Amino acid sequence: MGPGPSDVYPRVLEALSRPTVGHLDPSFIRMMDEVKSLLQTVFRTKNELTMVVSGPGSAGMETCFANLVEKGDTVVICQNGAFGGRMKEMAERCGGKVILVEDSWGRAIDPAKFEDALKRNPEARLAGFVHAETSTGVLSDVKTLAEIAHRHDCVTVVDAVTSLGGVPLEVDAWELDAVYSGTQKCLSCVPGLSPVTFGPRAVEKLKKRSAKVQSWFMDLNLVMAYWGSGAKRAYHHTAPINALYGLHEALVILLEEGLDASWARHRAHHEEVRAGVEAMGLELIVPPPERLPQLNAISVPKGVDESAVRTALLDGYNLEIGAGLGSLAGKIWRVGLMGCGCNRKNVVLFLSALNSVLKSMNAPSRSGETLQSARVR
Ligand SMILES: *Cc1c(COP(=O)(O)O)cnc(C)c1O
Repeated sequence: MGPGPSDVYPRVLEALSRPTVGHLDPSFIRMMDEVKSLLQTVFRTKNELTMVVSGPGSAGMETCFANLVEKGDTVVICQNGAFGGRMKEMAERCGGKVILVEDSWGRAIDPAKFEDALKRNPEARLAGFVHAETSTGVLSDVKTLAEIAHRHDCVTVVDAVTSLGGVPLEVDAWELDAVYSGTQKCLSCVPGLSPVTFGPRAVEKLKKRSAKVQSWFMDLNLVMAYWGSGAKRAYHHTAPINALYGLHEALVILLEEGLDASWARHRAHHEEVRAGVEAMGLELIVPPPERLPQLNAISVPKGVDESAVRTALLDGYNLEIGAGLGSLAGKIWRVGLMGCGCNRKNVVLFLSALNSVLKSMNAPSRSGETLQSARVR
């Protein structure tokens, strides 16, 4: 129950163990086409340029910036946690001049501040922001941010690593231009792959580049010779065949449940955790409308050694939760409810284990009602 990787579905582990075929085997090509169309369904997009980067979520992030930034371009990046900072770092390494719009850790990105930065930097043509900040448990309104970006002629790069599968994400309806995700959060697949989708604005920007993409590996013009549609598939790199079997299975599982049902399940178990920790006298640090159901940032009570609690949970209950990062280090625990790890059994285990551990440390905990509160919804 940390911030990822989440528990992996047994069916995904079984799929990973199937025999490895060639990366140009006709049966594998057919499966790649299915992965593309499953991804179009879960991203809610018709984007033709929808594929999987052979690398973790950060490789998807880097693919977006490597393809969309040219030397000297002004790029506006919003930062309200660790991953916005990583975006800035990547855009700079791609030669961009980054204008950073900072919000405090634990709060959503402020659309007014973002618009102000775009007004002050009218030459900017690219903007990046994170939908679900896993470092703080915050959900930002990317639909509104994309509308603002487009009003100022900016193409958008959107981090959907933790949002995909866990909360509503509408790539086409919200007109998000370049979107990347990851397999190890709400998809409950193994780490190491990054689903990516590019819409019309992003494709146009890519086509209008004046210089070649610096990264050979991430140059989408080259990658699409392998992932593109049609019969003429050419070798680009040896795809992680078995990992893609796993992703295929994870996407099938997600669509068997249904996207709406998955979103509702994440919200329901989040409400149980919220009720349980509040009954214990603890608080979620994020204001209710900005909370991310799949990552609960819980304040550490005064006088409690936060790392000792995590160690006790791991040693005594085989239960992993995450620590705070950056300005929230030592102040919060990060409790993930992602993919197949988001279930009633885990909620009850977490609440009762945390309760026992806090009591054993003589920390203030109003225990009796905890589980009862979690069940009352
Ligand atoms: C996990 C995560 C990433 C990075 O993914 P990796 O697979 O670890 O490279 C990027 N952005 C967000 C919001 C994440 O939660």
